[in-house]
Amino acid sequence: MIPVPEPSSSTLNWQQQLRDGWRDGHALLAHLGLDAGAVGLDPDSPFPLRVPRAFSDRMRPGDPDDPLLRQVLPLTRERIDVAGFSADPVGDTASRAGHGLLHKYTGRVLVITTGACAIHCRYCFRREFPYSEAQAVPSEWDALADYLRAHREVSELILSGGDPLMLTTDRLRRLTDRLLDLGHIRRLRIHSRMPVTLPARVDAGLTDWLAGLPWDCVVVVHANHAQEFDGAAAAALGRLRDAGAWVLNQAVLLAGVNDDAERLQALMETGFEAGALPYYLHLLDRVAGSAHFDVDEPRARGLVDALRVVLPGYLVPRLVRERAGAPYKLPVL
Ligand SMILES: *Cc1c(COP(=O)(O)O)cnc(C)c1O
Ligand code: SF4
Repeated sequence: MIPVPEPSSSTLNWQQQLRDGWRDGHALLAHLGLDAGAVGLDPDSPFPLRVPRAFSDRMRPGDPDDPLLRQVLPLTRERIDVAGFSADPVGDTASRAGHGLLHKYTGRVLVITTGACAIHCRYCFRREFPYSEAQAVPSEWDALADYLRAHREVSELILSGGDPLMLTTDRLRRLTDRLLDLGHIRRLRIHSRMPVTLPARVDAGLTDWLAGLPWDCVVVVHANHAQEFDGAAAAALGRLRDAGAWVLNQAVLLAGVNDDAERLQALMETGFEAGALPYYLHLLDRVAGSAHFDVDEPRARGLVDALRVVLPGYLVPRLVRERAGAPYKLPVL
């Protein structure tokens, strides 16, 4: 009898791939041929490791400094308290408008659809956010729609989280169905790492939903290093564009991951070839546990100036810093 092969990750649907992802740092490091002690793994981090295999497949075996591994591996040094790094560095708690909404900026409102993500990014500013109290669960949707009805200046709805694409397409569709009668909404924006980290998420159900919406759709993916854009990620972005969505990429400037001009140039050019125009390059939000990723402002400016020399203007990202209470993400000039 011919043995049935183990399904490779690419033949599983996105929900199976989610379940199949890494949740144990020792196992991931053993798979990559690395020693947990030598790399400083924290196996018991309160923000535990989570990585889809579709993403770990792009890591270089045997390289403790791999830029993709760096983004996801919990390290013991995250536990060191550093002055200036806190639980809510961007003031999200203060901008909660109830019903799972964050209304910080005029004209656009952010919906916290879920606290879950397919991948756990060590530098994430939301790692300490109180999701369980602040999500737009279905029982809040009527109140959410009422809030939007009372705020006619809002023309754009941003689905965020967590990662909004962790929800089933059916649930996303039921949410947008409730909002179709709001005539002042003109754009839907989705912020998600999943088209890049778990490309199978961009399936026919998702693209049918997007293509059928009456609004212009923008999908902001989030990749920090050129190595994240493999063929499967590029194909997923292609499917989003075929569905009529604009695709942008935002990144965070991260020491040891992308803080040199060549790496940033490669990120912008490779991202473009995969189908995404650069959006923001964020200075790190100073969340507790992320100090080792910090790049200071003068260096950040120098890096973006170096990009201006070698890249066309449309491939130069907007360098911004988020400051609690500011009316927009502040350009760093
Ligand atoms: C970043 C952010 C937005 C979007 O800002 P843009 O500058 O339009 O990309 C909206 N709401 C909140 C709460 C945000 O953090
Ligand atoms: S919210 Fe985004 S950056 Fe934060 S852990 Fe989830 S996927 Fe990563």
